[in-house]
Amino acid sequence: MNHTSYIEICKSAYKKNIQFIRKEVGADTVISAVVKGNAYGHGIENITPIAEEVGIRHFSTFSADEAIRVFRSSKKKSEIMIMGMLANEDLEEIIQKGISFFVFEFDRLEHAVAVAKRLGIKAKVHIEVETGFHRTGFEWAEREKLMLFLKENQTLLSCCGLCTHFAGAESVSNYVRVREQIKIYHQFKDWFTEKGVSFDRYHTACSAATFSYPETIMDMVRIGIASYGFWPTMETYMYKFKSLPENNKNPLKRLISWKSSIMSLKKVKMGDFIGYGSSYMAPRDMTIALVPIGYSHGYSRLLSNQGKVLIAGKIVSVVGTVTMNSIAVDITDLKGVKKGDEVVLIGKQKKNEITVASFGESTQQVNYELLTRLPMDIPRKIVK
Ligand SMILES: *Cc1c(COP(=O)(O)O)cnc(C)c1O
Repeated sequence: MNHTSYIEICKSAYKKNIQFIRKEVGADTVISAVVKGNAYGHGIENITPIAEEVGIRHFSTFSADEAIRVFRSSKKKSEIMIMGMLANEDLEEIIQKGISFFVFEFDRLEHAVAVAKRLGIKAKVHIEVETGFHRTGFEWAEREKLMLFLKENQTLLSCCGLCTHFAGAESVSNYVRVREQIKIYHQFKDWFTEKGVSFDRYHTACSAATFSYPETIMDMVRIGIASYGFWPTMETYMYKFKSLPENNKNPLKRLISWKSSIMSLKKVKMGDFIGYGSSYMAPRDMTIALVPIGYSHGYSRLLSNQGKVLIAGKIVSVVGTVTMNSIAVDITDLKGVKKGDEVVLIGKQKKNEITVASFGESTQQVNYELLTRLPMDIPRKIVK
């Protein structure tokens, strides 16, 4: 059965992105591929094998269900780490499968120890410390109790990591806050070391921190957005720009292209309103093409009379409102366009390109949001 649109995922782009990140972090730092949010909309089952092909052996998810999906799609017994939601009831399966997880409260830690004891398998934990993000993480005041707990239960716990997450390393406006976070993280690290508690890996950096605060790279980096070919923000890109090689000023390549096709054509007379309501009146005799994607497919209603798509290699405009399942685009000036022709919503066609960033200009969506809002049921196809 045909679908109304398809998302292509470019394998060679992923490879180039990882090669660039590898150069940035050096040979000895583990790159954990962050695949939360269904791999930023790309599909966990698509990204896991592609990543393993280019040498990735560590994956990070937000939740336990995502971790299980990585576990099932991994062919290389890669390490998997849960950074957020993990219900106590799911600890048994997660510990049994050797999946590691962030711990930021005593409740989870106590349950993990109890389950580890029952199973006779160590729980692999990453201790997350509060450095200023103020969402999750053990407080400085809890360090003594935490240290004693880790020591008492060392036969049941494997201390895989000491970690934290930065509150906005992608913008210079957070510079003071991030600097303070780095400082506090090191206070925790030194304190634990002094007390004789060591961790396999010290990790704090996301994509933006890796690029803008290279001292945060350490044993492992947790890379999401950059691996999918996007700079966290324009600012991060500008920060790196000068140091990028002259022949490769754009080392991060988008994996995703989103394509549909023309469902039908229609002639419209000057003065006719197109679509629901009266937001667009034809200023001349026009030909419009109907494209079967709408807000139910992740094409924001804010793109009414705003969006641009590619047909026959040319940039054409959305006219009228974006409806649940379709948009109308103005193809009056194109020649020889017919039903079934390709429509590019994101990606390249001949010399033109619609970028993910261009959506941000009209919808205020950051690239992270646009990607993860692409519905799971749009088929993803892997291309070279
Ligand atoms: C999402 C996330 C990352 C990755 O962030 P990017 O900006 O996509 O690289 C790293 N660490 C944690 C804890 C995260 O939640």
